[in-house]
Amino acid sequence: MNDVEIIAIGTELLMGETLDTNSNWLATRLPRLGLSLKFITQVADNKAELVDLLVRARERSDYIFTIGGLGPTQDDLTRESIAEVMQEPLDIDRGIESKLRQYFTERGMEFPIANQKQATFIPSSSFLINYHGTAPGWWVTKHGSHIIALPGPPAELQAMWINAVEPAIKNLLDDQVIVTKTFKTLGISESKLDELISELHSMGNPYIGTYAKADGVQVRLIAQAKTEEEAQAIIDPVASQLEVLLGPYIWGADDDSLEEMIMDILDAKKMTLSVAECVSQGYLQSRLNQVAGTESRFMGGFLISSNDALVRLGVKNDLLSKYGAGSVQVAEATARMAIKHFRSDVALSLVGNFTMDSIEVKMGTFYLCAIIEGKMLCSTMEIPLRKDIFRRRVAANTFLFLHRALTES
Ligand code: ATP
Ligand code: MG
Repeated sequence: MNDVEIIAIGTELLMGETLDTNSNWLATRLPRLGLSLKFITQVADNKAELVDLLVRARERSDYIFTIGGLGPTQDDLTRESIAEVMQEPLDIDRGIESKLRQYFTERGMEFPIANQKQATFIPSSSFLINYHGTAPGWWVTKHGSHIIALPGPPAELQAMWINAVEPAIKNLLDDQVIVTKTFKTLGISESKLDELISELHSMGNPYIGTYAKADGVQVRLIAQAKTEEEAQAIIDPVASQLEVLLGPYIWGADDDSLEEMIMDILDAKKMTLSVAECVSQGYLQSRLNQVAGTESRFMGGFLISSNDALVRLGVKNDLLSKYGAGSVQVAEATARMAIKHFRSDVALSLVGNFTMDSIEVKMGTFYLCAIIEGKMLCSTMEIPLRKDIFRRRVAANTFLFLHRALTES
């Protein structure tokens, strides 16, 4: 019923010059509307190819979202292609045209005649306001299927989607409510998790999906029903079962983030935090610093780039040469230095001795310590030395360690 496909239009996409982030963004917005994405296709600025694709799309999908090609230039062919598929003539809407003219006049520019084509329409189309640019979108409905033509620039597409398209789709589908619940886990592989929840898998509603992310595996439940209460009633018992099956691995749900959870605890305990680390290249501090209103809780930190810097921070040379930078002794000393310099209530340190090898992925061992009101807690963690996920893995494990240390203290 609600099968969807996305067609991203632009030769630059196929040349590898522009990454199709729009399709990705749209894809994340569809499940909550109850729309089921079946295809994402990228096609060049070529009318014959786009027409061909639109014809096929109309056979297999209820909603077709096209992205791009709504501009004034010769290679912007989306409207012409849709008109051809619908076998309808293009005409100019004088109201829209005068709005476009006004837009240019207000900016002291002459109206380029090429822009007139942004005011064209076909009988089955209606216009969608562009809040961030000149090209209006199109919503074309015929024989129960919809083509929704969106502009290419991401800010234009997103504003149009949020303000015009999403509410209209919700209206069309108002007898269908989607409720989702996502559990976030750490310390368990996707296959192991799948095994643990295997007894739940046969259900269609709620749908259960697992996703391996750099910072842990997520389990998402999606329930569909006529009302929110009904959808919630479908989710709740399965969510409780999941909580039992995955209890020790679950650290949060939905929009929870570990750094926000850490800040909440610090807020509640009226404690301040500082960090000193040689592993994440400042990523830990950056994440903590991005939590809104952290100034009073997160005092700051040291990004340590070498053994020399560790010594300048105050870690003793003999300790360093005796145990090496990758040791619990150095992690302890580093945490003490953070406390000494920042006079915070809590300090977090993370050290390790590692090199990334782009061919062979090895495991790296890291040492982390937290001092919480004078009490030292330390741990080690093993993280694969893989560039693409390294910092997020490190952050997830380090923050989880600190979060547990804070809750248990
Ligand atoms: P314009 O009026 O700016 O010409 P348009 O609707 O015709 O808009 P395009 O010409 O296809 O859109 O793309 C304009 C710009 O938008 C591209 O140069 C690119 O920067 C960005 N863009 C287009 N499609 C995508 C996409 N799928 N993902 C991310 N960015 C995109
Ligand atoms: Mg264009």
